[in-house]
Amino acid sequence: MIKKVLIANRGEIAVRILRACKDLGIQTVAIHSTADADAMHVRLADESVCVGPPQPRESYLNIPSVISAACVSGADAIHPGFGFLSENSTFSHMVDEHGLIFIGPKADHIAMMGDKIMAKKSFARLGLPIVPGSDGAVTNINKAVKMADEMGYPVLIKAAAGGGGRGMKVARSRLEFVEAYETARREAGLAFGNDRVYLEKYLANPRHIEFQIIADKFGNAVHLGERDCSLQRRNQKVWEEALSSVITPEFRDEFGRKIARSIGKLGYLGVGTLEFLYEDEKLYFIEMNTRIQVEHPITELITGVDIVREQILAAGGNKLSLSQDDVKFSGHAIECRINAENSETFIPSAGTVINYYCPGGPGIRVDSALYDRCKVPPYYDSLIAKLIVHANDREQCLARLRRALGEYVIDGIDTLIPLHLKLANNPDVISGNFDIHFLERMYEENQ
Ligand code: ADP
Repeated sequence: MIKKVLIANRGEIAVRILRACKDLGIQTVAIHSTADADAMHVRLADESVCVGPPQPRESYLNIPSVISAACVSGADAIHPGFGFLSENSTFSHMVDEHGLIFIGPKADHIAMMGDKIMAKKSFARLGLPIVPGSDGAVTNINKAVKMADEMGYPVLIKAAAGGGGRGMKVARSRLEFVEAYETARREAGLAFGNDRVYLEKYLANPRHIEFQIIADKFGNAVHLGERDCSLQRRNQKVWEEALSSVITPEFRDEFGRKIARSIGKLGYLGVGTLEFLYEDEKLYFIEMNTRIQVEHPITELITGVDIVREQILAAGGNKLSLSQDDVKFSGHAIECRINAENSETFIPSAGTVINYYCPGGPGIRVDSALYDRCKVPPYYDSLIAKLIVHANDREQCLARLRRALGEYVIDGIDTLIPLHLKLANNPDVISGNFDIHFLERMYEENQ
């Protein structure tokens, strides 16, 4: 049994993990940079260790500092959260080497899924449908052009090691392709230290649908249904819903069980998300994330499963507390990502929060690390809070969401609250009529 967890993260996800640990009677150790000394996750943890200066690579990404903090504080496990070191297989391997438990899958599975080419091949072998494209990396421009011509334009060039919506280039013609291919390789090499790229058919108007899974070390794996994360900006999610209105209960059950069987066969441990694009009533696998996902709370609200708790228990060697037949879906949930960004220009906004007032009432959950007069430093991801709403059906959920957005006060910095209000009142969003390009189009129309 895990007794003490070091949380190798910050912000709302560090607080979320802390809460799960407290509920389980597990001691917590926060790490922080000098910029975060007064942060909420530090205040709420039983202990805290400063791991370096503000720049992430010198603190939250500094593997020796993070592992030393765990050893010095006597933690027996490390929870990486999302971002930072969560999908770094070297880190998870080193955590293991130090006799600590990494709360996540085995290093081999992180490495396999971190390479999107390998991930696609693995799931194709297990019988899941994948987005049509090149069979592997394309390293030669002549072969790449030939392949793109055969696939038909538009074609997407994707970095094998890409993530966070980065490392993708669309080519709409052969002429565009040659330049896009070279740029994609160069940028992937610089951004990810790996210039392998592959080609994918660029789907015109898909929705982003993803399935949450959880597995234990005994080979038990269940799926917790899907989330629709089509409302994105620059390939990054802004608003997520569970369940999706385009997936029927029969399809969910059959496809979800197929996914869970594949995960069981892989011997995967912990939580994960399989991401798909949905077009013409078909799902196509694009990638798997091997960590807790930002949008996990909407699945928690419709299933009643505490996913972070299950994740910690599974890492500690426990059996899953539920079987597939125990998973029941109730009502509808929506999450709005409240980023510290200007809602027109999306320029990040740092500063001190004032007049903080958090919404409440029936169906409202806010995951954040904000408090009145807290600082939002400029060094980190701009996600500062998640407004998560649950109701019996989508219509009621949207009404509660509008009510909560109207109550939410975060002064002193710019946030995406005005954008979410616009979305919550948009007739197409209300009728569920959107795809991954919806936000792009909305902004183009406003230009
Ligand atoms: P990342 O790891 O950077 O998040 P993904 O492969 O998950 O990259 O893709 C992120 C988003 O990019 C998807 O949700 C979708 O909006 C868009 N996208 C990815 N692949 C395709 C594709 N083949 N056709 C159209 N859009 C795509």
